[in-house]
Amino acid sequence: MEIEYDFSSELAIPISYGSSEVIETGKWGFEKPETAFLTAPCQEACPAGNPIPQFLYLAGEGRCEEALETILKENPFPGVCGRVCFHPCEKDCHRGQYDEAVSINAMERYVFDVTSNHHPDIHPISNADSKRVAVVGSGPAGLSAAYFLRLLGYRVTLFEARKALGGVMRWGIPEYRLPKSILKKEIERILQLSIDVKTGVRVGKEIPFEELDQFDAFFLSPGAGLSLSLGIEGEDLKKVWRGGGFLDRINSGDKPRIGKEIIVIGGGNTAMDVARSALRLGSRVIVAYRRTRAEMPAIQDEIHEAEEEGVRFEFLLLPVKISLLKNRRIRVKFQRMRIRGRDQSNRPKANPIKGEYLTLEADGFIKAVGEGVDLSWIPGNISKNGLIDVNSSLTTSNPKIFAGGDAIDQPRAIVTAIASGKKAAISIDLYFRGCMSEDGFSKIRVGNKGALSMATYLSGKDGGNGSEPKDVISYPQINTLYFEHSKRIEMRKQDRNKALKGFSEVNLGLTSDEARISTSRCFSCGTCNYCYNCYFFCPEGVISLDPLHQTKTVDLDHCKGCGTCAKVCPRYVVLMKELS
Ligand SMILES: Cc1cc2nc3c(=O)[nH]c(=O)nc-3n(C[C@H](O)[C@H](O)[C@H](O)COP(=O)(O)OP(=O)(O)OC[C@H]3O[C@@H](n4cnc5c(N)ncnc54)[C@H](O)[C@@H]3O)c2cc1C
Ligand code: SF4
Ligand code: SF4
Repeated sequence: MEIEYDFSSELAIPISYGSSEVIETGKWGFEKPETAFLTAPCQEACPAGNPIPQFLYLAGEGRCEEALETILKENPFPGVCGRVCFHPCEKDCHRGQYDEAVSINAMERYVFDVTSNHHPDIHPISNADSKRVAVVGSGPAGLSAAYFLRLLGYRVTLFEARKALGGVMRWGIPEYRLPKSILKKEIERILQLSIDVKTGVRVGKEIPFEELDQFDAFFLSPGAGLSLSLGIEGEDLKKVWRGGGFLDRINSGDKPRIGKEIIVIGGGNTAMDVARSALRLGSRVIVAYRRTRAEMPAIQDEIHEAEEEGVRFEFLLLPVKISLLKNRRIRVKFQRMRIRGRDQSNRPKANPIKGEYLTLEADGFIKAVGEGVDLSWIPGNISKNGLIDVNSSLTTSNPKIFAGGDAIDQPRAIVTAIASGKKAAISIDLYFRGCMSEDGFSKIRVGNKGALSMATYLSGKDGGNGSEPKDVISYPQINTLYFEHSKRIEMRKQDRNKALKGFSEVNLGLTSDEARISTSRCFSCGTCNYCYNCYFFCPEGVISLDPLHQTKTVDLDHCKGCGTCAKVCPRYVVLMKELS
């Protein structure tokens, strides 16, 4: 119904909301509210740039399929990362400064788990100039590069030496942490984008490296699969196993007979997986590490779980000799170490204590001291210091060869491998379009720690609307008065005795109630979560919110610029801007 106003009297007095609409009270103010999102610290800290507050909001509203699609824009492996990522996002979560960090990692898994029957709407963009790209290696780096290159519309051929895809996710990480069914689902989703897969083809063996030249560009992600040698006497004894080989056999369904008592050498993820797998085969396990617990490079959760399951740790021990005893057991002589100074990579340095040794006996010895990159098939001019040598855009000295994952100089983790696959896909696109420059990356950065946004890149491609990078919201900018203290929710775990009887998954995820509580703990730092505070407190009633389409409008013709909305926004999304 249209309202008719009577302006015949000299003084128009607003007597109702309807009548006051004709008076543009908005002109009285000196400031106007502006809604602008900032980057949350969790998202900045996730190397894959996962849109964390956005997916938590959607999951909290029960819109998990949309939450999954939101993650998939930046990360093709939510089911894997939700299980085995070392979650640097949680370390930087602002909620951690208030009480305890939000369970982001568990929520990522939850979103994947509850949408297992959903076929997400992800399609490559149309790309008339459909160049051909070869990807070598199908670990998280190679599969991510293939995924993002397909989203960018390029034709991709993926070469994998093994008979199945997945790299360490398949042959390294055991079933009790990452079930093969989960990996299968993630890989199937990626392959639905039409990737030409060649398994059982080792580049440099089945086909020569030069054959890659038929492609317009190629991405090398062969990982670091070479077991490093300890260089000590007795290392070649039959009772001495390679950590990678041991896990490979277990992941192939084998149950190697390793004996009742096992010594594992190392402090990284491989050592933890070896130790916990050996427990599941019925062995008693000692892990010996040359530094202290504080320096162990393995994921903290894994160290903790290994301890809980009964792995014994011995620190500051370096093996110097292994010998076979008459009773077919082995004796390992260890040099005692102490921490003093720092090494070349600035890590605390372990130094031998002169004349101090310790001897341990066991039935078997498994070395898990790190892995090297097999460079034997790679041209010498693109490698350096045992790695493939790349610049900041992941390009080698040959402009059409790119590399990522464990084979380059970067932290060795699944999420960093994913990040390098994404960055290389963007680099290859920039290379094809002849516009490679640092600017190409700075516009799509998520905060300042190296994460990039593919969604922003795609929206800004070919002169589109790619938004400018946003600042990261600081903790004092959050108005914590609006939040009650609450405890963080951890994933439920399988009963320990039952867990040790086999290889079934240890972490059981969150229930729907636990997920709801977890999402409600998120501050939604720098992002509107439609809490309606501004709507309820606005004295003029000029704010409209649409949570379904995630939009918010302010009727500026009638906003007097009082600033109440900005004051009551808990997450620093509404700011008052002076009118010019
Ligand atoms: C036992 C273990 C447990 C781990 N646990 C975790 C964890 O819990 N969380 C985490 O974040 N990180 C973990 N990591 C580290 C993480 O798995 C790696 O950083 C990551 O897998 C590296 O990915 P990538 O794609 O570079 O290489 P990889 O995963 O190693 O994949 C490389 C692939 O390339 C193939 N390939 C090699 N050479 C050729 C060739 N010439 N031609 C064709 N194909 C080739 C290989 O067969 C392999 O499939 C773990 C590592 C290990 C070893
Ligand atoms: S991928 Fe890792 S860092 Fe990123 S949101 Fe998931 S758990 Fe956090
Ligand atoms: S409170 Fe939420 S948005 Fe803020 S840092 Fe933590 S998870 Fe991210």
